[in-house]
Amino acid sequence: MTLLTEAPTALRSPADSLRCRNCGAQFPLGPVHACADCFGPLEVGYDADLLGRVDRASIEAGPRSLWRYAGLLPVGQQPADRVTLDPGGTPLVRADRLAAELGMRSLWVKDDSANPTHSFKDRVVSVALTAARQLGFSRVACASTGNLANSVAAHAARAGLDSVVFVPADLEPAKIVQTAVYGGTLVAVEGSYDDVNRLCSQLAETDEFERTAFVNVNVRPYYAEGSKTLGYEVAEQLGWRLPEQVVIPVASGSLLTKVDKAFGELGKVGLVESSPWKVFGAQSSGCAPISAAYALGRDVVEPVRPTGVAKSLNIGNPADGPYALDAVRRTGGAIADAGDDEIREGIELLARTTGIFAETAGGVVVATLRKLLAAGALDPAAETVILNTGDGLKTLDAVAGRQAPTVTIKPTLRGAREAGLLD
Ligand SMILES: *Cc1c(COP(=O)(O)O)cnc(C)c1O
Ligand SMILES: [Zn+2]
Repeated sequence: MTLLTEAPTALRSPADSLRCRNCGAQFPLGPVHACADCFGPLEVGYDADLLGRVDRASIEAGPRSLWRYAGLLPVGQQPADRVTLDPGGTPLVRADRLAAELGMRSLWVKDDSANPTHSFKDRVVSVALTAARQLGFSRVACASTGNLANSVAAHAARAGLDSVVFVPADLEPAKIVQTAVYGGTLVAVEGSYDDVNRLCSQLAETDEFERTAFVNVNVRPYYAEGSKTLGYEVAEQLGWRLPEQVVIPVASGSLLTKVDKAFGELGKVGLVESSPWKVFGAQSSGCAPISAAYALGRDVVEPVRPTGVAKSLNIGNPADGPYALDAVRRTGGAIADAGDDEIREGIELLARTTGIFAETAGGVVVATLRKLLAAGALDPAAETVILNTGDGLKTLDAVAGRQAPTVTIKPTLRGAREAGLLD
């Protein structure tokens, strides 16, 4: 065995095709996202032998970012190829006090707010922009509910790429500022995310945007693969094994389907011993089309008009809805949803018991976890990982009115005494 014969394979992407998730048709890798036969969504397919060449040692010797899993990703095999703020490597926190409060035996929080732009979206963006550059695009763009906007603008700034980011005009102020500050073009659209997304699909077809990679439109198959790294990381951090249950916030449903895909791949390539896992979805009641379909036992997801505080999850017409339903049903999980006040209480409960201040999506997960436990859908005795996908500082308004100093005093001992601090 010499390095000379190994090098070419080692640097080859394990991806070999785009496959239609609807009809199974295969297409060459490229900037396309819809099946030419049935218009179904395309997903990256892999050569099983090439995927199988990764092992624990080679991953553990890699960078402390999601790029340690490059051997399981379609792009970025060589460091020079990567567009990256080095996301990933976020803490998996043992949540014993939260577990005790909920009557659970073993609970972990995967805290993906600890990414460079403070949400899990850095994972999908790093992979999508790497793909965009490898595919020869000169500009990057996205339709966003907020966190994607932050991450695309930041990654573009780091790589020196032009960016055009489209968001609903009523986005949280923090997410507007955290996008605009990176200096790209930020377009506020007077409409819902679904309106923004439709507009981007139309723009992507125009001559003016021909050289533009829309991360969640024409390079979506690559974007989606970035979410797998959250699943890989959880397994590695547990000592190369799968959790029995995982609770995942759901907007388009992409993250949920990709964590499920990641767990499956890990077993297939022998990085973990195969063991059963259950995938649970968490939605905001103000935008719960997948949860509603689940409750009614339907396969078809009826679009809704989103409302509610969890704006990062407000996708009323979720592209991966049917596939999320499939992953949940196939693994024996469930999907439920929580209302705005429950979401606020979820944020506070998580903060008070773990020291993690989550954005509204994290509150959705904690609140939905409670409901799933109460309904008997989730086993309190089985090891469970919940995902916090964003930082509370991004959505301060959601809880600002409920939080204040315990007491305000004069800077004197008398002031302290009068406030009861010396009793
Ligand atoms: C985008 C996002 C998700 C999940 O989105 P999917 O479209 O379902 O992949 C979850 N949490 C936060 C905070 C997000 O920004
Ligand atoms: Zn098809």
